[in-house]
Amino acid sequence: MSRLDADVKVRNPRTGEIDRDLAAPTAEELTALVAKLRGAQKNWEAIGAVKRGEILMQWHAELQKESDAIVQALYEDTGRITESKLELQVTLAGIERWAKMAPSLMDESESQKAQLPGVTIHPSYRPYQLVGVISPWNFPLLLGCIDAIPALAAGCAVIIKPSEVTPRFLAPLARSIERVPVLRDLFGTVEGAAEVGQALIPQVDFVCFTGSTEVGELIAAAGAKAFTPVSLELGGKDPAIVLPGADIDRAAAGILWGGTGNAGQSCLSIERVYAHADIYDDFIGKIAALANNIGINYPNLDSGALGPIIAIDQVETIKDHLADAYAKGAVALSGGEVKQLGGGYFLEATILINVDHSMKIMTAETFAPILPIMKVESEEQALELANATIYGLSGSVFAATIEDGMRIGRQIDAGAISINDASLTAIMHEGEKQAFKHSGIGGSRMGPASIRRFFRRQSLLVNTTSGNDAWWWNK
Ligand code: NAD
Repeated sequence: MSRLDADVKVRNPRTGEIDRDLAAPTAEELTALVAKLRGAQKNWEAIGAVKRGEILMQWHAELQKESDAIVQALYEDTGRITESKLELQVTLAGIERWAKMAPSLMDESESQKAQLPGVTIHPSYRPYQLVGVISPWNFPLLLGCIDAIPALAAGCAVIIKPSEVTPRFLAPLARSIERVPVLRDLFGTVEGAAEVGQALIPQVDFVCFTGSTEVGELIAAAGAKAFTPVSLELGGKDPAIVLPGADIDRAAAGILWGGTGNAGQSCLSIERVYAHADIYDDFIGKIAALANNIGINYPNLDSGALGPIIAIDQVETIKDHLADAYAKGAVALSGGEVKQLGGGYFLEATILINVDHSMKIMTAETFAPILPIMKVESEEQALELANATIYGLSGSVFAATIEDGMRIGRQIDAGAISINDASLTAIMHEGEKQAFKHSGIGGSRMGPASIRRFFRRQSLLVNTTSGNDAWWWNK
């Protein structure tokens, strides 16, 4: 039997070397794994949320023991180290949070009397048996686990298929799972690309997909065909608005971080800025000065902050968006050109001015440390342009007062708006939010509501009376 995705190879983004084959399963091996995970789920559901929390904390301890190996694997696949450590910390914190929180969110003790005399309603939470997680390369561990953890806490079995671009962390992750009896039978990982992803969809009961809007459409179609519900967390083109009266130093520093963290390879990166004419010159001067100081993380990890462009396919998109912008009159105040260094591709923090919506850099997802800044004449124009997009993931507002910021934020069609800050959802996961427009479909992945995606409500309607009910055929 041949392996699925047999031709896919893995590349190191720093050296450019293709140094590993993808270890995807055959179709038969995948089906056998799915059957094993499914088989263990009933017991996992039956032991209850408190016991599941205890077992998740055993996994937490085992995952911690693999810290060095996980960070090293993430580093080899992504070329950056700070964000790799952060991914691990956030994942560990997520396990702890869900282990603690899930029992109260799944408390089944309450029952209620119905309006009908003698009838009581006993509601319960019935988890999907097997959840499939299909995740992207930009935060491999974090986005592989962010849905898996609440799904496990809810009582589901889970299988993770991360991006073929970044599969190396699976080995230490799988080792940590393997050391936890019970969990190892119902929490699986699998390497693969599109073929494995497609093969999974009809074999699982719920799909959590994080990735591009393009592939999200294919996942939705495959889910519809198989009658597998899907949750889609997709691309973004997050706007930031800067208005007169805002703290311009804070806005410049915050937006720069929001646009260039993880070298801009984040769904919730700030990808375009609308700065009011009254503060425009001040703002672009300050942000360009700061951008010129960030530097790239080459030749070694101590130099500069921005790591390499992780996925080779992204290099062409970035070059194309920059060339299109320059051809139409954009000017770079910092950075501005993709450089090939030691086999990897790097881009300095790039501030662009003289931009408008005729350019791809203002409308399509670039996924790079680039901040195109457009001058606007009014708050209304800023809002109109901020909403002139197919995306609706998140956004940011810096205004004269917090009240102004909140009033403006409510008018942006996106799920999470940072006020007087940028990209806050990258570091805090408590606020419930959904993706708007083509940025996704489904319930909130953040906050307590996240767990609700993984179970169905079931009610037992118990009638304790005897004799015939009044509405039966009582002749
Ligand atoms: P991608 O859509 O190319 O791939 C995502 C996953 O889908 C990978 O595991 C891939 O193997 C799999 N896949 C690809 N084609 C498939 C198919 N036909 N059937 C089934 N599975 C398939 O995305 P990417 O390039 O890995 O990641 C970058 C994208 O992810 C960006 O658009 C970014 O905005 C988005 N993203 C969104 C969020 C969010 O929370 N909304 C978070 C991070 C990244």
